Amino acid sequence: MGKVWFVGAGPGDPELLTLKGQRLIAEADAILYAGSLVSKAATQWAKSGCAIQDSKGMDLEQITNWLVSKAQAGQSVIRLQTGDPGLYGALIEMVQPLDQAGIEVEVVPGVSSAMASAATAVESLTLPEITQTVILTRVEGRTPMPEGESLAELAQHHATLCIYLSITLLEKVERELLAAGWSQEAPIVVVHKASWPDEERIIRGTLSNIRGRCKAEKIDNQAMIIASPTLGARQWPSMKKSKLYDKDFSHRFRSAQKERSA
Ligand code: SAH
Repeated sequence: MGKVWFVGAGPGDPELLTLKGQRLIAEADAILYAGSLVSKAATQWAKSGCAIQDSKGMDLEQITNWLVSKAQAGQSVIRLQTGDPGLYGALIEMVQPLDQAGIEVEVVPGVSSAMASAATAVESLTLPEITQTVILTRVEGRTPMPEGESLAELAQHHATLCIYLSITLLEKVERELLAAGWSQEAPIVVVHKASWPDEERIIRGTLSNIRGRCKAEKIDNQAMIIASPTLGARQWPSMKKSKLYDKDFSHRFRSAQKERSA
């Protein structure tokens, strides 16, 4: 019996795949990649003779049947998923039929698009005394949000919000953040195809103008919306510094200067 690896392909740039993911791709007998979001370039390390298939047109049953049949034939199989497999990736729906078939499963994490988007925009998702919390979420579209998780409720924390799957619902994002007390002037960053060579675009704006800017740039898919009181901090004249590198702050690997001189 073979084994199925769920491998996070990262946000797009094949260099953002983990070394482990790359090694497994090179060793695999069969790779099923989510072609709507994962670049085929991520399969460039596959050995010759490896069966490579795009799952774009397949439904869940066809996907799991493909994985099961390859694994039952004794193959090492990879399901290559965008970003991290544990975020909006239908992971458990695919794992359950494999469990039922007695096939071994392992998951390899990936760089999620929220992290890639913050990185390319040179933004920090947390800042001392601004916010120390990141909420990964989406707004309600065809998938209903569980009770207590509407954006208006989550946004009341005034923490960083990384909003997936919602670029066509920017109007709703705007409405819910305003309802939660965010200002019209609150900075927003939208990153389209973060890390994709030649395709990445960063759109900056405020709650009141980001929708118009995205429309003007024709951005209506594969985009991350980041709303955060930390945005734009690179240009701030002053800010609270992290304790981690503070010379007066001791931690496990370094004593504070005061203590050293005492
Ligand atoms: N598992 C993925 C998310 C899959 S849901 C991850 O961890 O990133 C698909 C959503 O992810 C898209 O609607 C978009 O909001 C976001 N996304 C995926 N790739 C992206 C990229 N390269 N740049 C910006 N957003 C991306």
